[in-house]
This record gives sequence, structure tokens and C-alpha cells, in this order.
Amino acid sequence: MVKTKAEKGNIENTLRKISIKRETPKSAFILLVLLYAIAYYMVIASSRSQATVNLFGVTLEVSAFTGVFASLSNICIICLVLLFRRVGFIFSLGLLLFQFPGMLSNIIRLQNYRNIPGVFSNLLVMIAITVIYIGNRRITLYQNSIRDQAVTDRLTGLPNRFACGELMQDLIKASQKFALVTVDVNNFKSINDTMGHDTGDNVLREIANRWRTLADSKKTGTSDFVGRFSADEFYLVISGTDSSEAYKRTIEAYKDELERKITVDDCDYYLTACFSYTICPDDSDVIENLFLFADSALHEVKKKGSGSRILRFTHNVLNSERDLELERKIRAALNRNKLLFNLQPQFDMDHKLRGFEALARLKDDDGSFISPVEFIPVAEKTGLIDRIDLSVFENAAAFLSSLPNADKHDFLLSINVSVRHLMKNNFMEEMRRVVSETNFPPQRIEIEITESIMIDSAEKALWRIDEIKKMGMQIAIDDFGTGFSSLSYLNSIPSDLLKIDKAFIDKMDENDSSKQYVSMIISLGHILNLKVISEGVESQKQVDELKAIGCDYIQGYVWGRPLPPDDVAKLVDSIDS
Ligand code: C2E
Ligand code: CA
Ligand code: CA
Repeated sequence: MVKTKAEKGNIENTLRKISIKRETPKSAFILLVLLYAIAYYMVIASSRSQATVNLFGVTLEVSAFTGVFASLSNICIICLVLLFRRVGFIFSLGLLLFQFPGMLSNIIRLQNYRNIPGVFSNLLVMIAITVIYIGNRRITLYQNSIRDQAVTDRLTGLPNRFACGELMQDLIKASQKFALVTVDVNNFKSINDTMGHDTGDNVLREIANRWRTLADSKKTGTSDFVGRFSADEFYLVISGTDSSEAYKRTIEAYKDELERKITVDDCDYYLTACFSYTICPDDSDVIENLFLFADSALHEVKKKGSGSRILRFTHNVLNSERDLELERKIRAALNRNKLLFNLQPQFDMDHKLRGFEALARLKDDDGSFISPVEFIPVAEKTGLIDRIDLSVFENAAAFLSSLPNADKHDFLLSINVSVRHLMKNNFMEEMRRVVSETNFPPQRIEIEITESIMIDSAEKALWRIDEIKKMGMQIAIDDFGTGFSSLSYLNSIPSDLLKIDKAFIDKMDENDSSKQYVSMIISLGHILNLKVISEGVESQKQVDELKAIGCDYIQGYVWGRPLPPDDVAKLVDSIDS
């Protein structure tokens, strides 16, 4: 797959950022070279010395230490190759080769045969570091290919969601204005259903090729970055202009390109799509909000039916009457301590209980439940989320502590914590209070945070996460894959678990590229030393597939739905006895 220059640049930039964090500091290089020089000098000095030293009452010749210094110098050489790869290898090889003329001249001209072992030792070290370097290089190439996959969509070769987040972050840092456009192809599902997934995939590839070519041609007059989120959802990041009209014209150009007849496998298709966009910094300069705004606008424009449409985000999209009603209901439940919780079990791949995720439940006036997917976003907007998080945590921890044999249990309690709650100044105080009041051990608490945390206020978040870890609690990264998560940030969070979002698990049944994506996330998690849990697993087939690609834990209807406290008590009781 040919990548445009712009894409290549951005993808490589993304990858470079991840690896930069893993590079050993230059000071270590200087230190190793210095240590090597000292050890090498000591080899020569000790081998020529006639002196003796007294060590623990034993008299030894200084020349007896030559071997020790030689080993030390070899260790420095090996560390250089291991830590500094190519540069370390070339430098070390140079150092070793540089010594040969002197040694050979000593042997041949001065007939000093004591140098012969040194020549062999140098040769052996050269062979050893060559073997280490080649082995290391193969590992590096493998890691690079995984990192490459991490920012590239397998099916179309376009940059994926990670790359999008990374690019936007760069633009925000450079104070450049841009538009984030999300695109949803209309009725794409019907192509998959009637013509099969292979044809569907070919159509997606054709769309990707057309848009890639357009972005590359620079015909639009703006700087366009095109990528794919998932399935039939694409995105555009348009920069290089300050004019709202120019953004609109560019989007029109992509729309026209899509609407031209597409012929795949001898069939003609006429496609349309919905485009929604939000402008940074006019609407917001927080990446999380930009995604939310573009998605809300897309949701709004899709409601209007088929045909191509373009909608610019406005704040009206966010505030509906339903939101006000929900806000009232949440307040009432919190004030009357009527906010409920469920616990959903998590298992390891051998079906052994790992722990429970606490999920908020809100009962409507008629006794039915309102979905958290509806009320949590409203609670986030109105600032009620802190109280929800805390109420769920308090009640769930108190409940688990009240179970018979509670002190013998070792399963975890995972709680969801929203970004704004986590950032509150008294967050740690609240956590300590609940822990002491409920007597629930902090080592068995896992805090679930979403990846977006790191984008808003990375430094404060990292500091807070450190405090959480110091208190003994664990960190899970929730809904992994759905965000625009910057991989370099992910690398810097000291987390314990990655939770792969249900959306990706669902798609595993649809096509191979989704399976590969999940497999890639699992490898990525393992590279970063994290355990990985898959959420929303509904079938045994998915369990088997996840097991085969190395997933560590499962959470989903297949092995357990979210349960009310009474059912949890029964489940735990059955395990205890
Ligand atoms: P989440 O944290 O990703 O929670 C997992 C959601 O997936 C839960 O939905 C759970 O019921 C659902 N789920 C788990 N396994 C399956 C499955 O096999 N099939 C299907 N179809 N669904 C499955 P729920 O309870 O509706 O919660 C939705 C979201 O609301 C949560 O997503 C979380 O983001 C948020 N949420 C829930 N409780 C809280 C809370 O106390 N605090 C905060 N901040 N957010 C919460
Ligand atoms: Ca969660
Ligand atoms: Ca989740």
C-alpha cells in the first residue's frame, strides 16, 4: 500500500514519539565509554606492573587483576551494544578494531607474545557483540512493525484513530487552526449484507484510495489528513487555512469524490455520506471535546435520513430537554440515596473470578432502568458525576466488605472514575475516607480511567495516578481503542490493565482485520507490560479466539452480566463453599 508523504510523516512521527520515551539517556553512553576507557587503561597498566597488593591479608600480584579489568571492559562493550543498538555496536566495533594495530605490532615487531590472548579475546568479543546486535535488531524490527500497525488501519492502509489524535495534538501544540471532520458512509451495512464482506472491504478500499489521492494532490488548497476510525467511519483533519468557508469547500470536494460512481467486482455503487465537523480552537481546543462535538453533530445529521449532508457542530446539538429531565432525576436519586449499583464479574481465561466492575444504576419513576450510556454523559456535563462515582464506590465497597468471609476474599473491585472527578483536589481524601470507612483493602481496588485523561492535563493526571498507585490501588485504562489515545501518553501511565472496548470485540465476528486489530492491542498491552481484558464478550467463539490471541481476562455476558448485590452474594457464596 502506497502511503502519501504527509501520512508517512505523521505515522513515523507518531512511532518516533513512542520510541523516544524508551531511549537510554546520552549520559549513560558517556559513562559507559568512560568506564571502558578506565578499565582498558587498567588492563594495560596491570599487565605491565610488577607490583603487589595486600588484599585481606593475602599478597597478590597486580598483574593477576588483568583478567578482572578485561572482563569489566567487555561488559561495558556489551552494555553499549544492548542499550545503544546501532550506534553502540558501531562504536564498540570501532574501539575493538582500533586496538588491533597496536597489539599486532607488539607481537610482530616487539615479539611480545603476551598480547596473543588479547587478540583472541578481542575477536571473541567482536563475534559476541555481532550476535547480540543482530538478535537485537530483529526484535527492534518486530517492535517497529507492531508500532506501525498501531497507527495504521490494516484494511485501507490509512492512518487510524491513534494517528488522528497524535496529529491533532501536534496541531494544537503549534497553535494551528484546523477542522476535525467525521464521516459516516450511508447505508454501508446493506452492501455488506447483500454483497458480502469481501465486496464491502473492496468498496472501503476504493473510498480510501480516492480520498488518499485527493489529499495527496493538494487540489483542495488545504492541508488534508484522511484516515479511518472503524467500519464505514472515516475522518479528515483539515488545516492550512483559517477560513470556515475553506473547510466547507474541502469537505464538499471529498463528498463529490465519494459520490462518483464506484465500480467494484463488476457492480456499480452510488454512495453518499454524512459529514460533521468542529473547528479547533473556535469550538474547543481540547481533543476529547472535539471528538465529542464532531460525534454529536454526526449523530444529529444522521437522524435526518439518507443523502449526503454536511453539518457544522453548534452547542445546540448538546443541550436538549431530555438532558434537563435526566439531570433532575440524577439529583433526586443522589439526594435520596437511591442511586443503585450492579457488579459485573470479570474472569481469567480459565473462568476463575478476577473481580467485579461496579456500574451505576438509575431507576426511572416507572421502575424501569435508565441506561448509564444516557445519564452518565449528562452527569459529566452538569458536574454530578463526582457524586455518582463516589456513591457507587462507597456502596459497592461497603457491600463487598459485609459479605461472609470478606477478609478471605482476594478478588478486585473496579470502579469507574470520570476525568473531572479524578482531577478534583480532594479526590485522594475521598478515596482514603471510603477505604477507611468501608474497610475495603486498597490493594483490591482498581480505578478505571479513560485514555482521554492524559490529553487534558497530562502532568496533573500523572501526578494523581502516582498518588493512587502509592496508596496501593491499581489502574485500568477503560474503553481502550475508542479514544484518540496518544500512544506516547499511554506509555507514560503506570497502569496495570488495558480494557479493550466492546465495539472491537463485536467486530471480531465480522472480519479478519478487526481480529488483527484486537490482537495488535493485546500485543501492544503486553509490550507495555500490561494485562489485557476484553469487554462485552458475548459468545464462546469470541472467548476461544481471545484465548488464542493471548488475552488475559474476560468481562461479558458470556460468563456474567452485571448483577444486583443479592446475586453477587450468591455467586461469591458458591465460590467460597
Ligand atoms: P463501561 O465502563 O465500558 O462498562 C461496561 C459496559 O458494558 C456496561 O454498561 C456493561 O453492562 C456493558 N457490558 C458488559 N458486558 C457486556 C456484554 O457482553 N454485552 C453487552 N451488550 N454489554 C455489556 P453500562 O452498565 O450500561 O455502563 C455504560 C457506561 O456507563 C460504562 O461503560 C461507564 O463508562 C459508564 N458508567 C457506569 N457506571 C459508572 C460510574 O459509576 N461512574 C462513571 N464515571 N461511569 C459509569
Ligand atoms: Ca468501565
Ligand atoms: Ca469499558
